[in-house]
Amino acid sequence: MSNDKVKCLLCGKYYATISWSHLKYVHGMSVQEYKEQFGLDFVTAKSLRKRHSEIRTKLTKEMLIKEIHTYVKSGGSLFSTEISKENDHIVKASIRCFGSLKNALESLATNTK
Ligand SMILES: [Zn+2]
Repeated sequence: MSNDKVKCLLCGKYYATISWSHLKYVHGMSVQEYKEQFGLDFVTAKSLRKRHSEIRTKLTKEMLIKEIHTYVKSGGSLFSTEISKENDHIVKASIRCFGSLKNALESLATNTK
């Protein structure tokens, strides 16, 4: 479940979220300063879940195809049993846009030259 955690770039430890209180009391830094120093948006487990739930409901076919491409490039498996564990949002969006994950993958194959 380490995918669900965020690394604090100051102390190198992993947290469910990097909170303002962690930055303030452990590192004496504000959220704004942290963002400026590392140029990162805060990606928390919570925001990742939110993003996935948005993908589930709002993803267009084109966006879904991109999402699957990204997933495959990052080494993801296209076996439906393995996809569903980590990337439930892809499966849900596939079913919504294409009727099933199989249809989505077939459509992806025809779209890729
Ligand atoms: Zn820290």
